[in-house]
Amino acid sequence: MARPSPPPNRLFPVVDDCLVVGGIPLPQLAQRVGSSPFYAYDRALLNQRVAELRQALPDAIALHYAIKANPMPAVVQHMAAIVDGLDVASGGELQVALDTGIDPSTVSFAGPAKQPWELSMAIAAGITLNLESERELARCAQLGEQLGIPPRVAVRVNPDFELKGAGMKMGGSPRPFGVDAERVPAMLKRIGDLELNFVGLHIYAGSQNLRVESLMEAQAKTLELGFRLADHAPGPLQTFNIGGGFGIPYFPGDAPLDLAPIGEHLAHWLPRVREHLGDTQLVLELGRYLVGEAGIYVAEVVDRKSSRGQVFLLTNGGLHHHLAASGNFGQVIRKNYPLVVGNRVVGSEREVVTVVGPLCTPLDILGDKIELARADVGDLIVVFQSGAYGATASPGGFLGHPAVTEVLV
Ligand SMILES: *Cc1c(COP(=O)(O)O)cnc(C)c1O
Repeated sequence: MARPSPPPNRLFPVVDDCLVVGGIPLPQLAQRVGSSPFYAYDRALLNQRVAELRQALPDAIALHYAIKANPMPAVVQHMAAIVDGLDVASGGELQVALDTGIDPSTVSFAGPAKQPWELSMAIAAGITLNLESERELARCAQLGEQLGIPPRVAVRVNPDFELKGAGMKMGGSPRPFGVDAERVPAMLKRIGDLELNFVGLHIYAGSQNLRVESLMEAQAKTLELGFRLADHAPGPLQTFNIGGGFGIPYFPGDAPLDLAPIGEHLAHWLPRVREHLGDTQLVLELGRYLVGEAGIYVAEVVDRKSSRGQVFLLTNGGLHHHLAASGNFGQVIRKNYPLVVGNRVVGSEREVVTVVGPLCTPLDILGDKIELARADVGDLIVVFQSGAYGATASPGGFLGHPAVTEVLV
């Protein structure tokens, strides 16, 4: 029995039963890349996603790309030109962001254990540091003094609410991220006493959310919390990063996010934002939503065999490149990512197969009892929804296979 079908491919065209990526039929793209497995990201789909967001969201909302989702330099370079800023989470990511030539004042850096060298880098670069603790604030002030540059700082707030299930749970929880909301007023006062350039607030409530209602509720609570905290700020907020968390559909039953109500809801809040905060720039920071659906992972069938009635396709790609698709990146119950045979999407014959990788572990599964066109050695297995948390979120060194290639087409 096949498992329920994951959401069908909505975004990549299929011509002559072949998937087309960046305008190139997949077999030709595979030749062009030169070796498999590989990740391919489609620039037209990146552009399309940003355009859809611009269309749905009020003009007053700035769009930032959280590069943790996909830090491939060519992707970051492409995104830098079409969004309003970049968010980084390490000194390494900061380097990639700065290499794009983006205006440093539109780059921000959040992360719970920033090391002194990372703080110095950020201060010297003139980007915004989202401060995650009182100690980080003190370090930052001291480093700024040593460098003779007033650091640009915002406070990352651990909100007093959280996203849980369908609704919002009041009360908040202990977290290593940000400063507890109740401690933020004192921290803002301290910032005012030091030689710091206060930029604003950053509140991030969660990730991979497909529920429009929860996202809107989180945004409302975030804005309200921001209004309250702004009264304690040492100056006007230049920016208020209200987080993101927009999800993409991976599994059966997942529906793509409807952006229209989210845009309308934010538009409805804007007058109150102006009333409480003046002309503060609101920022949405999105990772996966911007890049996740624009990328595929491609692996080649190396062997095909059957074991006690079950057909296995053994490929050269697996969890060492794509941990998330194997079900081992934060999933509780393993579900299949959407898969097709990229050079024979519908095919003339269909069958239920299990697609595995080359690693000698039962965890290395790309598709478990999934219906595909009948495939054989040399065919190309495509994993959709692979543009975010792919190559860099996988244990590339495990079992010593070659590193994965990435292309932007
Ligand atoms: C991880 C992270 C993001 C990106 O999350 P996505 O689910 O990829 O949108 C954005 N902001 C912060 C602070 C994060 O930690």
